[in-house]
Amino acid sequence: MESMNRVGRLATVREDIARACRDAGRDAGSVTLVAVAKTFAADAVEPVIAAGQRVFGENRVQEAKAKWPPLIARHHGVELHLVGALQSNKAGDAVALFDAIHSVDRENLAAALAKEIARQGRRPLLFAEVNTGGEPQKAGVRPQEADAFLRVCCERHGLTISGLMCIPPVNEAPAPHFALTAKIARRNGLKLLSMGMSADFPTAIAFGATHVRIGTAIFGARG
Ligand SMILES: *Cc1c(COP(=O)(O)O)cnc(C)c1O
Repeated sequence: MESMNRVGRLATVREDIARACRDAGRDAGSVTLVAVAKTFAADAVEPVIAAGQRVFGENRVQEAKAKWPPLIARHHGVELHLVGALQSNKAGDAVALFDAIHSVDRENLAAALAKEIARQGRRPLLFAEVNTGGEPQKAGVRPQEADAFLRVCCERHGLTISGLMCIPPVNEAPAPHFALTAKIARRNGLKLLSMGMSADFPTAIAFGATHVRIGTAIFGARG
């Protein structure tokens, strides 16, 4: 049964995270597994929650809004992370629903989030997304603009950014992208690093990832 497979794959991913932490001389508790459930319905997610997973990721606000409120009501301690792009006009919904937002990448979004955080009195954990590959079609601030962007978020908008997120280009070795993201975080005094997906999370952990975003390796291929 597919639900058994998911529970088995979750256990395998947890073991792989623990091994990568050991290899890097890191505490296994220093890495948060964000199980990315996008495109999978609530009934596919339920057994993974029952198996003890509590932190989940989605990449679209509308999908998350339809799927998660009943799951959150039924299960204790579920934490929801937005890993995909966020439109400024959905900042209110995002602040209301998510415990973390991994995709802060432009000033108008930073401004919209700051306004909603003040209005709602909710403080999701925020990551700035860095486009380490400088890919024109991809979200994220350019590496050379990251320091200035972080300053603007803090000084002009009073936003607390706690870490950085990156998605390396698909056809490149991810290690240099993880290294660059870690370097930008270090020089800006940021402690959290959201990096590593199904194909590359052990490498990301070697470079200091604190949050790995894993979909396929747990839920299977998306349709
Ligand atoms: C879908 C997605 C993931 C998970 O990717 P997998 O390769 O399925 O593990 C991670 N991060 C973001 C931003 C995503 O959109």
